[in-house]
Amino acid sequence: MPLFLSKSFLFLPTRPFSSISNFTSYMMSSFSPPKPKTRLRGVVFDMDGTLTVPVIDFPAMYRAVLGEDEYKRVKAENPTGIDILHHIESWSPDLQRHAYQTIADFERQGLDRLQIMPGTAQLCGFLDSKKIRRGLITRNIKEAVDLFHNRFGITFSPALSREFRPYKPDPGPLLHICSTWEVQPNEVMMVGDSLKDDTDVVFNTFR
Ligand SMILES: [Mg+2]
Repeated sequence: MPLFLSKSFLFLPTRPFSSISNFTSYMMSSFSPPKPKTRLRGVVFDMDGTLTVPVIDFPAMYRAVLGEDEYKRVKAENPTGIDILHHIESWSPDLQRHAYQTIADFERQGLDRLQIMPGTAQLCGFLDSKKIRRGLITRNIKEAVDLFHNRFGITFSPALSREFRPYKPDPGPLLHICSTWEVQPNEVMMVGDSLKDDTDVVFNTFR
């Protein structure tokens, strides 16, 4: 699971980490006092596949929403990943409602098997000890975020779910968190596992 760092966090190497455990070890072993112009004030995390062990079968979800033939066509046109929420936005209200229901069904099935990613609690404790804020941006539903907070006792704030529009990779949620924290985007790191969502939200923020 690669984790991508905001280009603004200059004193960390811009390389992916294979797991949040490796990232936690790196942060705790090599953290140094921040330089004045690149001070880290907050870290924003993706949820599925980053803070939690991946449990949603996304290809199966896309097949259920799109149908096999359309899934193959869309996948061929989007080799870096399918933006299913964006894809269904142009559908009629009835088709959209059915698609959202299908997506929510897959997400709710995943909730039953929700597990925290190893290393998350240690990393959050470390960030707290450095007074570095932590937020969350996910395209999953609020119900999933609430369950994560309640089940594992670790809270991220703000925690923006799919109900917050526009969702990532639009820069809106990341800018909203920066505004809430009263920090600049170049003082924040984004950590996630999606090339399409979690890197693009950073690129779009600085575009
Ligand atoms: Mg993810």
